Amino acid sequence: MAGRGILLVTGGGRGIGAATARLAAQRGYRVCINYRRDAEAAQALVAAIVREGGEALALQADVSQEAEVLRLFEAIDRLPDPLTALVNNAGTLEQQMRLDEMSAARLQRVLATNVLGPLLCAREAVRRMSTAHGGRGGAIVNLSSMAARLGSPNEYVDYAASKGAIDSLTIGLAKEVAGEGIRVNAVRPGLIHTDIHAQGGEPGRVERLQSSIPMGRGGQPEEVARAILWLLSDEASYATGTFIDLSGGR
Ligand code: NAP
Repeated sequence: MAGRGILLVTGGGRGIGAATARLAAQRGYRVCINYRRDAEAAQALVAAIVREGGEALALQADVSQEAEVLRLFEAIDRLPDPLTALVNNAGTLEQQMRLDEMSAARLQRVLATNVLGPLLCAREAVRRMSTAHGGRGGAIVNLSSMAARLGSPNEYVDYAASKGAIDSLTIGLAKEVAGEGIRVNAVRPGLIHTDIHAQGGEPGRVERLQSSIPMGRGGQPEEVARAILWLLSDEASYATGTFIDLSGGR
């Protein structure tokens, strides 16, 4: 059994979540990799982690659906180790457009995955980790975005607003559970090379914008994963309600 307890990474099958799950397994966490649709990617990642000597399992759930979140955490409850860490990573965005073109259905989808999902997952994690609930404490890291500060005009202000909500969640929940053994922090990635930009209709978005990045390049998922793992670790024992911007200076 791994030494550091169980880490749940939502949306852990691809992109930043996958890099986080892989690094966490290398550091001794037993990793639960949640995914929504891409079972193949999640299973391939589990196989890669196991080949490297780590422990991982893939669990399907749409974090925007309460019943599926409950099922996800109940599956984790059946594992022999306690949940000690949550990375609220699952996130989505849709086709780039102005707010005056967006449908209510789209806004609901984006907010359901990016805001309701992390709130529900954080709630379930607190119910298990909090010393007030008989737990042993733990750490939560939320995936915000530089979009929370920049606003993503003409692309996806809905997404940016959802990440603003993640910032508020991080600040408030950190204070709420600071005396119950749980630290809550967030990372704000900038332009990171993953498939999420293609989902917005512009696969080359990082390349288009990289001249606006002081460091002159986009970031790699592994560079975000290392900051997440630090925030989860005892090295960050006095950090709560805080943020690490990973944006190459943007
Ligand atoms: P990605 O490559 O598009 O991967 C997204 C992951 O989230 C996938 O594993 C996907 O599952 C999962 N997911 C989406 N909706 C879900 C739902 N409702 N329930 C469960 N899982 C769901 O994205 P990424 O770039 O790695 O982004 C990860 C996080 O970082 C997101 O919160 C994103 O907003 C944030 N972020 C990214 C960037 C960037 O430049 N890439 C910058 C700032 C912040 P399936 O594989 O099953 O589809």
